[in-house]
This record gives sequence, structure tokens and C-alpha cells, in this order.
Amino acid sequence: MILKELDSLKTFLEKPRNIVVIGHRNPDGDAMGSTLALYHYFNKKGHNTTVVVPNEYPDFLHWLPGSDTTCRFDWQNTQSKKAIDTSDIIFLLDFNALHRVGHDMQKTLEKYPNDFAMIDHHQQPDDVKYMYSDVTICSTCQMVYQFIEMNNDLDLIDKDIATCLYTGIMTDTGSFRFRSTTSKTHRIIGDLIDKGAENDRIHNNVYDSNSYGRLLLLGQALSNLQILPEYKTAFITLTDEEKKKFDFQKGDTEGVVNYALSLKGIIFAAIFIEDNDQNSIKISFRSKGKFSVNQFARNHFEGGGHDNAAGGKFDGSIEEIVTKFKALLPEYKIELELSYES
Ligand code: 5GP
Ligand code: MN
Repeated sequence: MILKELDSLKTFLEKPRNIVVIGHRNPDGDAMGSTLALYHYFNKKGHNTTVVVPNEYPDFLHWLPGSDTTCRFDWQNTQSKKAIDTSDIIFLLDFNALHRVGHDMQKTLEKYPNDFAMIDHHQQPDDVKYMYSDVTICSTCQMVYQFIEMNNDLDLIDKDIATCLYTGIMTDTGSFRFRSTTSKTHRIIGDLIDKGAENDRIHNNVYDSNSYGRLLLLGQALSNLQILPEYKTAFITLTDEEKKKFDFQKGDTEGVVNYALSLKGIIFAAIFIEDNDQNSIKISFRSKGKFSVNQFARNHFEGGGHDNAAGGKFDGSIEEIVTKFKALLPEYKIELELSYES
């Protein structure tokens, strides 16, 4: 855990400030939940806060309280840059390195003259002035709860904050099932329900709002699934053509990789998704047990993340990435065999 300059951060925030809060590109539930929770909290403390979102985020997160107040860096560029230029401090949430916001926004942030504060649970964070980093915590949302607790402000958590935090903890823990979910996580979740988070409504909004096209795309993904039992590995491919055929929308492939991991005996899963706009393949990796997909993604696919959930990218075709992926597996055969005992 890294706690850096948090006392001086507290002093800095004793005066009303202009604050910008940013999550990573292609925001997930934890990025949106943590940035919006902090938005509501800081505004309650008398600050003037703007959440700047790097790019589009899935429909199933648009209902989050405060979502309509955010600025999109990619298409509300002037407004976003103005918020950044007039801010006294920028909070970086749910990511560990500036390049995770995307190229253009990274360039803007690199010119930022004031200080950054980071609250994040990814490994090997960049160094910024104020830091709260802990790779053992399941979600940035749990860290935001604990940050509010460090400031003795738990009483300020209202229904909106509780709803945002519950959402990110839920999505980053696979609905409270990953090993990172501790008894403390459950106690925090209990407190968030006491403070107004409606658990059934949140689960429904996030997980039961599928379009018909999304289910058909899932069907396509499952029929593309390939299993490599000798490596306890399964992977899924999706081409751009298949995405178009089923009217792909942002977020439609979220969680699909978990179906590969749900197969009995499989402890390493991947999904390779073609993205013709970016001329590359977006990759998600998941694992069970000791096999670190963070390390695998860092070593071979310009990526990273957590030990059991990571991402990366590849410049080339689906056929090329499948060939590369299969060629890498023999090197990891023993590690994969020993990773997980069910
Ligand atoms: P997902 O597979 O859901 O996109 O991402 C899983 C985890 O890996 C998330 O914690 C995400 O932040 C991280 N991640 C995804 N893509 C990348 C990447 O390209 N680089 C790094 N460093 N982390 C990534
Ligand atoms: Mn997260």
C-alpha cells in the first residue's frame, strides 16, 4: 500500500477548490462509480467538481447518479479542457498510468501545471504528488469509501454516493465472488445498503438491461469459443464483421470472457475482439489462482491490470493473434497446471 502526502492533501482540500476527477478510457463500473461518488462527496464538501470522462461508456452505466453532469473529453473537448485548465487539482481514479486515458487526453494531462492525486488499485502506479494506492483492495470504489472514512466523513455518504460505490464494488468483484472480496468489502456493502443503495435495482440496471442484439452477439461469441484442455485455457474471438452483424454497442462484450472461464477445468481465459477503427485487437484476459494475467499481458501484449483480470492490445489480425497466443502457451504449461486447486 502507498499512502503519500494524504495529510497535506487534506489540508489542501480545507479550502473550496476547483476539482477535476478522471477515470480511465473505456470506463467500466468501477471507473464511473468511483469518479461520480467522489464528485458527489467533494461537492458536498463545498468544492466545485467536474468529472471528465475520456470516451464513451456503456448504456448500462448511464443511469448512475450524476452521469448527466459529466464532460466527455472526446466530443466535449473545449468544455473538458476548460475544466482542466481552471482546476486546482486533478484526481486520477481507477488507473495507474497517464497513457490509460488515451493519446489526446494524455497529452493534455502531461501539460497540466498543478498536482495530481491518485486513488487506485492497479499494480505499479506512476508517481504523483498525492497517492492512495493499494493493489489488495478489490475496487477503486472500496478505496473511495475508505478515503472518505480517513477524512471522518462517512456520515456524508448519502444515497447517491452509496449507489455509485456499490456499483463499482459489485462490477469489479464479479458480484462479490472474486478472492479480492473480503469480509471488509461485505461490511462496506452492508453500510452502503444502510445508506440507501438499492442492491436489487443496481444489479438489475447493470446486468439485466441487455438488448436482443447483445444476446445474439453473445451467442456468436460462444460459438467461436475454442478450448485447449492441455493448457486449461479457453479463448473467444469476435471479428468486426460479427460485431456489426449484431449491431454492436459499447459494453456489449463486457463480461463475455467470463463464459470461457466458467468452463469446468479452465483457469485461463481470453477474448480477442477486432477493432477496425483502431486497426487493432482488444484483448481481455482472466485467470483463476496464481497464474498472473497481469504479467502475461505486460510481457506479450502491451497491457496489464490485475493478477486475475488484465487487458492488452495487438496490432494485427485475429488469425495472427490466435497463432501468437497458442505459440506462447507451452512456456506456461507448468504454471497453468499448478495455478488453481478447486
Ligand atoms: P478488461 O479486460 O475488463 O478491459 O480489463 C481488465 C483489467 O485490466 C482492468 O483492471 C483494466 O484496467 C486493465 N486493463 C485493460 N486493458 C489494459 C491495458 O491495455 N493496459 C493496462 N495496463 N491495463 C489494462
Ligand atoms: Mn477497478
